[in-house]
Amino acid sequence: MEKKLFSKRLIRPHSHALVVGLGRSGLSAVNFLKSISVRVSVSDAFPMDRIDGQIVEELTQKVEKFETGGHSKELFTSVDFIVVSPGVPLDIPALNSAYERGIPVVGELGLAACCLKTPLVAVTGTNGKSTVTTLLGELFRASGKKVFVGGNIGRPLTDYLVGPQDADVVVAEVSSFQLDTAGEFRPDVAVLLNISPDHLDRYDSYEAYVASKFRIFAFQRPGDIAVLNADDPEIIRHERKNGFLDDIRWPESNVLFFGNRLQGRNGASLKGRKVVLSGSAALSGNEEIYDLDGTSLAAQPNLQNAMAAIIAARHMGCSDSGIRKGITGFVPLPHRLAMVAEIGGVRYYDDSKATNVGAVHSALTCMNSPVILIAGGRDKGGEYVILNELIREKVKAMVLIGEAGFSMAEAFGSLTSVQLADTLPDAVRRASNMAGSGDAVLLSPACASFDMFNDYAQRGRVFRDAVNSLEGSLKC
Ligand code: ADP
Repeated sequence: MEKKLFSKRLIRPHSHALVVGLGRSGLSAVNFLKSISVRVSVSDAFPMDRIDGQIVEELTQKVEKFETGGHSKELFTSVDFIVVSPGVPLDIPALNSAYERGIPVVGELGLAACCLKTPLVAVTGTNGKSTVTTLLGELFRASGKKVFVGGNIGRPLTDYLVGPQDADVVVAEVSSFQLDTAGEFRPDVAVLLNISPDHLDRYDSYEAYVASKFRIFAFQRPGDIAVLNADDPEIIRHERKNGFLDDIRWPESNVLFFGNRLQGRNGASLKGRKVVLSGSAALSGNEEIYDLDGTSLAAQPNLQNAMAAIIAARHMGCSDSGIRKGITGFVPLPHRLAMVAEIGGVRYYDDSKATNVGAVHSALTCMNSPVILIAGGRDKGGEYVILNELIREKVKAMVLIGEAGFSMAEAFGSLTSVQLADTLPDAVRRASNMAGSGDAVLLSPACASFDMFNDYAQRGRVFRDAVNSLEGSLKC
């Protein structure tokens, strides 16, 4: 069935929109649509008593129909267009009925992007999105530009549209789910950091997930800029095949790369801990060098992230001096490979945000000492096999927690010593008993946290508390 694409023309005063999913992004979409006189109804799978009371109160006065506890075909087929939140599965029966009637479906991001008049930098990838998006915000601020940072991180983009819209640039973190419903989303600069298996519990295949990531470039035109990782085999495979799958199109915009394997391409590369930009009209000379030594970006994976952010920022008008100031002042986000303590010569690292195998691969690659790895949680359908070589080479022992504990024990039991723990503090105690001076204890779960915690941040805090309560702990 051909799905009708959402277009800006549908947003007219008094047209009727349905917003599905009443989280933060749903609420923001309602507020934006009301601000431009669109009539709005809402629908949520949860019953009324499980929806945030404040949201209910705020919405009751604004919306036409307030449907809770499920989604009805009648409502979904009676509107002009539908706005879905990122958490809403796109194959629910009510949405299928809407597609059949030719009713367009768009995400909050796609809705916002088609009304945005401020230049937009969008960042996607399996890992590093939040870090690069936050860093870009810093680089713009340090260059004296007013910036709105949002999307999948922080505030929804529709929040920006109900305000004065006075930023020089909008920087948006964009997830694959958002790209699946992004309509004619067309960022001025689109960054694709890397691709490795993730969210395979929600996609039919890995190829479908890859196609989703490439959608960030789908509506770019010559003159826009695409920034891609030259070291990422999955990305480069598509450069060579140029449309390997029907769904994947190589960007038609001006393509720049970052990485160690530029091989004559224009973009950003590394010389030690220096980022070297070359081959672009935006630079003040043939080459510009940004020294990351002494900054929080001086180790992987942040060297990669810094290359991507610097090249994007420079092409969006940041000054070289502003960029230097921004990289010096950048404070890394918590729970991303952060050292929390050193106890008896053992270093403890909180990498709770590593919710897929790609992030764990990156963390293990960075480790220079034998590792006791704490992993597990809610499986997202990825294959663990890409970790095998690093586990064999660097991981002295694994302590596994959560729903995925047994299957991970099966996957890795022949490669290293494996224990199961009931709780994260129990896992920390077991890991510390096995670790000797010079070792690292690394929480890098490769799984989502929702089986045991509210989110990755709570999981990280529980890890920190458990580490800090070990005898002899000296907090970092
Ligand atoms: P995202 O928003 O894509 O989840 P984050 O910046 O929050 O990205 O980092 C998530 C995890 O990925 C952390 O474990 C972090 O150490 C790791 N990471 C960050 N940048 C990269 C990168 N460029 N490549 C691989 N892993 C990365």
